[in-house]
Amino acid sequence: MDRIPCAQLSVDVLHGVGPKLKERLSVLGITTLHDVLWYAPRVQKDRTTITDIVAVPTDAPVTVRATIDKIAARHAWKRRGMAIVDALVSDDTASLAVVWFNQPYLAETLHVGDSVLLTGVVKATKYGRSLQSPEYEKIRRGSPPVHAGRIVPEYPLTAGITQKQMRYIVKQTLERCLPVDDWLPDEVTHGAECLGLSDALQHVHFPDSLEQFERSRERLYFDELLMVQLYSQLLRKEHERQPAPQLVATSRVQILIEQLPFALTGAQQRSLNEILGDLATEQPMHRLLVGDVGSGKTVVAAAAMVAAVHAGYQAALLVPTEILAMQHAETLRQYLTPMGISVALQTSNTQQQWGGASRPDVIVGTHALIQEHVRFERLGLVVIDEQHRFGVEQRKTLRERSGLKGQLPHLLSMSATPIPRTLALTLYGDLSISVIDELPTGRRPVKTYLVPPHKREGAYGFIRTHVQKGEQCFVLCPLIEPSDTLGVRSVTAEYERLTKEIFPDLRVAMLHGKMKSEEKRDLMERMRRQDIDVLVATSVIEVGVDIPQATIMMIEGAERFGLAQLHQFRGRVGRSTMQSFCLLFTDQDSALGNKRLKAMTTTNDGFKLAELDLQLRGAGEFYGTAQTGFSSVALIAYQYPHLVERARSAAQQIISQDMISTHPLLAERVNAFLQRVHLE
Ligand code: ADP
Ligand code: MG
Repeated sequence: MDRIPCAQLSVDVLHGVGPKLKERLSVLGITTLHDVLWYAPRVQKDRTTITDIVAVPTDAPVTVRATIDKIAARHAWKRRGMAIVDALVSDDTASLAVVWFNQPYLAETLHVGDSVLLTGVVKATKYGRSLQSPEYEKIRRGSPPVHAGRIVPEYPLTAGITQKQMRYIVKQTLERCLPVDDWLPDEVTHGAECLGLSDALQHVHFPDSLEQFERSRERLYFDELLMVQLYSQLLRKEHERQPAPQLVATSRVQILIEQLPFALTGAQQRSLNEILGDLATEQPMHRLLVGDVGSGKTVVAAAAMVAAVHAGYQAALLVPTEILAMQHAETLRQYLTPMGISVALQTSNTQQQWGGASRPDVIVGTHALIQEHVRFERLGLVVIDEQHRFGVEQRKTLRERSGLKGQLPHLLSMSATPIPRTLALTLYGDLSISVIDELPTGRRPVKTYLVPPHKREGAYGFIRTHVQKGEQCFVLCPLIEPSDTLGVRSVTAEYERLTKEIFPDLRVAMLHGKMKSEEKRDLMERMRRQDIDVLVATSVIEVGVDIPQATIMMIEGAERFGLAQLHQFRGRVGRSTMQSFCLLFTDQDSALGNKRLKAMTTTNDGFKLAELDLQLRGAGEFYGTAQTGFSSVALIAYQYPHLVERARSAAQQIISQDMISTHPLLAERVNAFLQRVHLE
């Protein structure tokens, strides 16, 4: 079969997709037919039941199958000239009035004698009962209905795309793209009792029953879990091949801990012991350190670095943003300089060349550490902080430059993805996991409020009161510069407004990703020294930033962020024993009912939020993006524990029979996964 792969076909090859719709689809991340195929519905609605008109209830959604007896458009002058289409429809049992508002073209689209499916709600008005603005679908002989009289998908969409349009787009895509070749060999799908890929893709969009939908979704979830299992099992195999240097912890680690201004929590101590245990063996460590925001992962990593340095090796800390790199370098210097350990910073904006005598013990850097050809002398430990995309390739590169001969460095990944210990073990079974499931004592939950527009002034007063007590505030905006998108606040405009109108007497500053490194560094410095009261910033401060005196996180346009991101932002405050606050602002009245925002006000527990996130997203986004959601794989595992078991044995089967080298499609998929994913 010689077909153009659907990944190479643009959506505008479809009937009904013009430049405008194409543009709107791209906002959803859909540009090719492949994207459409993988764009999962949010829910499936059961519209299989067709009600006789005589039995149609008032005020509840129904679907009727009827013939149009009359249809005409008119203008309702009382309603400021609104266009109204009136129709009368009937089936064998009775007739029913139908009204559509603001869709005058319907009088041209639908004709007397047409057979239609109508879905909507019947309202009783002073003019009698009528079905109001129902969704409609003409019934054509020989082609099954798409929008009613069956189970109907609903997609997560943005303004300007209707569910009907999307279903039509998906229907055509399925006709053009299916069948696709399955990347899983038949033995695997059979063994795991999974549907074939084409079957699953067809029926995740247009199932014949809700049960079939569920089965289809499970197949796609299974693939995600399988990739994780393959990843951890392959890694384990690889690690068994080469030894690592033995980094035996000395009393120096204890000295560091005693110097700290606080005592480690039980969970920190336990995690550290697990890590030190790994480092002391010749088996390269690959451990995931998981802990919710503010649980204190950094100091645990610092202690591990002490062990590495005192065994005569270097340690590297990789982080996702420059701001975070600067902050970590600063923190590590505080901890380590008194112990005679040198710390250097490497970002794309720092040009240090190290060698010989100036060899630093610890190097903190962004991905520039990998790109800029930094060579290490004896790199014994690599720590990766936060959801930094750090694939197998980069790890390989780093290993080649580690300066170790015939040995691998130990690896510690840190992540704030909330995931309980037992689940972590199930999911990443073949990797080692430590979970910090306890916050430092004295921490108070951040009080979170959803603030309606008319209380904005009051909120500024609240901020002022706290600032006057010596506390600090972040104001987070979705954009850097003002844009055409009405009502979305930007850092530059808010900075102007806050400095001139709201807080002329306070020290207000702004921070965003386009600023020079020097400026960023200077700002974070001043924030730490408490020379700034209010910092207006973009999401550059999303992860990791640690300013203990900051107690208020005000988030503008909160409806524009996903739960995971909001939780991270909130994690920037509440990092001391002071009571902290998170104020969620939205200028959209509709967003006040936003379930995500409400959820933020009800719990501080990252794991509960993650669960909720999955529920709210439903089946959406098989490839949950880090931007909007929590690690979807962990949540899939949580909801489908039986799939984890199947995925684990399927992975064993694939590896033991070496199927990756005999099945090119499988190899392609696994490689794509390895490139994409750093386990979070
Ligand atoms: P995260 O896990 O989010 O990376 P950090 O490592 O940045 O958290 O720690 C958050 C804050 O808590 C830091 O200011 C750190 O100094 C402090 N901290 C860490 N451990 C403890 C502890 N055991 N007791 C009190 N404060 C702690
Ligand atoms: Mg951190």
